[in-house]
Amino acid sequence: MNEIEQRLAEIERLGLSRRLRLISGSQGPRVLLDGRPVLLLCSNNYLGLADHPHVREAAAEAALRWGVGAGASRLVSGTMTVHRHLEERLAAFKGSEACVLFGSGYLANLGAIGALAGPGDTVFSDELNHASIVDGCKCSRARVHVYRHLDAEHLDWSLRHHGGEGRRLIATDSVFSMDGDVAPLGEIVELARRHRARVLVDEAHATGALGPSGRGAVAQAGLEGEVDVLVGTLGKALGSYGAYVCASEEMVRYLINTARPLIFSTAPAPPAVAGALAALEEIEHDPSHVQRLRSLALTLRRALAAEGFDVPESEMHIVPLRVGDERDAVALCQGALERGVFAQAIRAPSVPAGSARLRLTAMATHTPAELRRAARVLREAARALGLDPAAIGAPAAERAANAAERAPARRQATDSVEEIGAQPEPRPYDAQRASAITRAA
Ligand code: PMP
Repeated sequence: MNEIEQRLAEIERLGLSRRLRLISGSQGPRVLLDGRPVLLLCSNNYLGLADHPHVREAAAEAALRWGVGAGASRLVSGTMTVHRHLEERLAAFKGSEACVLFGSGYLANLGAIGALAGPGDTVFSDELNHASIVDGCKCSRARVHVYRHLDAEHLDWSLRHHGGEGRRLIATDSVFSMDGDVAPLGEIVELARRHRARVLVDEAHATGALGPSGRGAVAQAGLEGEVDVLVGTLGKALGSYGAYVCASEEMVRYLINTARPLIFSTAPAPPAVAGALAALEEIEHDPSHVQRLRSLALTLRRALAAEGFDVPESEMHIVPLRVGDERDAVALCQGALERGVFAQAIRAPSVPAGSARLRLTAMATHTPAELRRAARVLREAARALGLDPAAIGAPAAERAANAAERAPARRQATDSVEEIGAQPEPRPYDAQRASAITRAA
């Protein structure tokens, strides 16, 4: 066996093997998956705007008017009127002075973190931050202190004990992609002020889903204009592809001059930008998209709880069903698929090993009846595998219980996260095995 074969065999052995599933047609609430009709319950097309008629028309018209590609990076000849237009609209939507588009959310985090932290500086990062923040931290070559998930007290401790003379940056998702919980943004901003740190908030899963008119979790917390760098993607509720950073005019000018993924990568494609612009207009002009998403999220959660799953009642559109074991999660996904419901199994390295889950997402275009049927199907699939629905559900509740258990050991845990560039593991598991897989992925 060569090295690649060995790594693939190891991934298979650990139940972590992946393959690409094929969707035919557009990204609606019901799709043809590998040729079979299924209810789509794991898309980030939260508002259903990726295939909305106005958004399709805007993208098609942009292709006819401006062509398909931008042809160059933003700093050469790739900045077109459509980019400028969307940047102005996003800045107004997010209540910030200025905005700059990036190729993707991944690139935006890499670029912004790399511009705001380097050797000699320190980034303070939530342990469940998205991989693009983690990789941004690694690429920046700054020191990284990983604080316990949502734990402002631990962040405070880290800020008091670390950071030295260099620049300090606190980086957090606002809505966490795999758990659907929300960062304590008010406390984070307050701590940043007290400890002379900047704050970067990734609103990938909040924009279009939370806050007044879908303006995000920062707006919901009343913190517009208080966060140094707001990152967001065009690829989820905005139904397109690309990303943005909203910030002060000075900060945006700084990123344009220093963020490497912006400088060295082709500008976003005009049809994608025009599509996102049309989606933003839809959200602004018709608040029912966001209201429907929130109401359907509540319907989904209530239906799952009624079927016996451990799912708390809220309007959060990301609904994790934590199974734990990787193979059980894959089997549950397969069982649901066979019954017509597609809810992808999420495993390491997307979530910590041993905390595999189905990550369900409501869409504004689902019907309540579809979501109730999906909940029944998931229960049937779990029962058929001998899994108890009551043991499947919210990771947050479980984590709260774990946190209480490990409270006396907090100081020790805090010291153990000083390792540069590594995310600590939130609960005991075979870290060596998981990191081998992370490297392989
Ligand atoms: N941040 C978060 C929190 C995300 O969930 C994602 C995508 N999964 C990204 C950034 C990356 O965004 P994009 O898909 O535009 O690269």
